[in-house]
This record gives sequence, structure tokens and C-alpha cells, in this order.
Amino acid sequence: MILPTAELLDRIPTPVYFYDLDLLEATLKALTEAAGTDQRFRVHYAIKANPRPQLLDIIKSYGLGADCVSGNEVTAAIEAGFEPGKIFFAGVGKTDEEILTALHAGIGCFNVESEQELYVIDDFAREEMMTANIALRVNPEIDAHTHRYITTGLSENKFGIPMSQLDRIVGIALRLKGCRLMGLHFHIGSQIRNFDSFKLLCERINALTSHFDRKGIHFSSINVGGGLGIDYDNPDSEPIPPFSDYFRIFRENLNLAADQTLHFELGRSVTGQCAALISKVLYIKEGDTRRFAIIDAGMTDLIRPALYQATHTIVAIDKPADAPVMKYDVVGPVCESSDVFATDVALPELRRGDYVAIMSAGAYGEAMASRYNLRDLPEAVFSI
Ligand SMILES: *Cc1c(COP(=O)(O)O)cnc(C)c1O
Repeated sequence: MILPTAELLDRIPTPVYFYDLDLLEATLKALTEAAGTDQRFRVHYAIKANPRPQLLDIIKSYGLGADCVSGNEVTAAIEAGFEPGKIFFAGVGKTDEEILTALHAGIGCFNVESEQELYVIDDFAREEMMTANIALRVNPEIDAHTHRYITTGLSENKFGIPMSQLDRIVGIALRLKGCRLMGLHFHIGSQIRNFDSFKLLCERINALTSHFDRKGIHFSSINVGGGLGIDYDNPDSEPIPPFSDYFRIFRENLNLAADQTLHFELGRSVTGQCAALISKVLYIKEGDTRRFAIIDAGMTDLIRPALYQATHTIVAIDKPADAPVMKYDVVGPVCESSDVFATDVALPELRRGDYVAIMSAGAYGEAMASRYNLRDLPEAVFSI
């Protein structure tokens, strides 16, 4: 992505999220081209990755639907102009108010995560004289080989309905008058770079759909969730994720019937590379064993390193090519030892007042910002 110059940064407050909307558009072009002309393939954007209205506006214009995990996200999707029928609502703990919000908005599908939730949605739908489209979220017991905090498809995770109970709960869903069972939903985790996990998911789904077909139960939709990872180590060489390879896995491995739609819920891969968190160097501190670059961004602005031990590429802005290279621990000002963006990273010699860009911060960055330590929320600026 294109970074701002130090001269420009001198005129705006930091820390600041810098969004490259051209890159977002290029990403969406690549995504929609790779998804292809098969009308059965439907892509939804997982709003939780980044709900900025400026981004939602662009994403919607490429025809994507929305994947929401709260009532407020459903409202944000409606306000951004997403077609209600293309809005899906997942989450293990939907409140009564959230269910009603989504029902009244006329969303396309509730992804239901437990038997009890099914009864609650059914009750509300019948009270409102409506029928709720639902899919059952299945926990497919597939290891996504990603950080354990972003693995969601193992039996130890709180998400989805265990496969051992699926027959029984599908039977219940088919009998409920307020619910229309559309199909099955899966989401095995996030930042998945090993496509074997997606292949395994296809095989698991094939086994399940043929099992239900044999029982005379045919689903109209299959939802494989999101999880396509991005390259945090080389954002410059892979600014756009490998969408073609990703969709090919499903095209080649999933037995999709002619009358079935296949839904994808991509978050990180859509917005991840289109922003950098830009921060000013406050102090350089020579410790006994390490050299610290203390910057004005902290874990309150970007929590991924502290929460998931994630790494982001860090670059210094506008430093001369012949500047000596030094090793730094790049740390934030927050009173937590985990407020560290990188250890032992090689950067051109930094001085107070220099700027660094923490790359690949467009997803789960600004969206997860907090005011811990009573810090201000980060600012945002947009290219164009
Ligand atoms: C978070 C989430 C996604 C998006 O995951 P990414 O890794 O950002 O693609 C999709 N579906 C559900 C149900 C989610 O919770």
C-alpha cells in the first residue's frame, strides 16, 4: 500500500489509521473476479473486521452481502445500504433485542449456534407472525492450524452445534413453524494460510450433505464462513490475498448441487492489507540488554500483538536509504508488559519525532481499539 509522507504526517495527529482505498478497491475487484460468474457463489463481508462506514460503502458497491455478529452490526449493515436479504447474523449469544432487530430488518439468515437459541428465534418469529430463515452452525471439529484464540471449529470451542447432536437438531428445526431451515453454516477460524484445513472442511461438508440427502433432507444453502489469511510478513509482495486459490479449493472439492448457494464470510482478507497504523516515535531508550523505540501507538490502538501474539511488519517512514540499521523492540506507552509491537526488529536508526507504519492493520485493528488508560481512540485518514 502507499504510505503517507512524513511531511503530511507532521500536519495530522498520531496515532492514526491510514486507509488506502485504492488498494481496497483493487482487492474487491480481485475478489469478485476470483469468485467468478457462478451465481451460486455469494460473498459476504464480515463487518466485525472493520465497520468503518467509508469502507462499508465501497464493499457494498461490489455486491457483497454482510456477515454480522451483533444487533448493532446488523443495524450498521442496514444503514450502510446492504440488501437485508444478503445480511447474515451469527454469534453464540444473541440477545432477545438483537434477534428482534434482525427479524424486523428482514435479514437473510440467522446462523443458529444452539438448540435453545433455535427455540427462542422460533418463539419471536411466530409472535411477530414472521418466518426466520435459519442455518445451523455446525462445529466440524477441524483444526484450522492458527492461533488457539482464533480457532473456532474444535469441540473445545464454544461455537456451533456438535456434530453428534446435528441429526436431532435438524429434525427439530424442520418441525418449527417460525423457522425455515436453509442449510448448514461453518466457520473454522481465522488467519488460515494452510488450505488443507479448507479442503478438510469441504470433505466434512460433503459427508454431511450426502448423509442428509439420504434421509431426504436437502439444504438450499451451505455457508463455509471466513478465515482466509493475509501475509503479515510480506504485505508488499502480497497486498491482495490469494482469492483464486481459495475459491478453487471449494470449486474443486465441494459437491455443490445446482440448486444450492454457497456462502463465504470473508473479513480479514477484504480489509486487512488496506490500512497501516501510523505512529510517532516518542523516545529511544537504551536498556541494559535491549534498545526500545517507544511509540505513541499502543495495544489500545492495535491489540492483535498483545492478544494473539500476532506480528505485523513495521517500516520507518521517509528515512534515507543509507541510514544505519539498528535493532529495536518497538513498544507502546500502555501500562502492560504485553504492549509490544515487535522485538528485535531491524529498522533504520530512529529518532524522536520519526514515524513508523505498522502494516496490515485494516482488519481487527481500529475495530478493536479501546480507551484503556483513558487513551484517546486513534484517528483515521483516507487516501483519495
Ligand atoms: C469473524 C467471523 C468471520 C470472518 O472471519 P475472517 O477471518 O475475518 O475472514 C466469518 N464468519 C463468522 C461467523 C465470524 O465470526
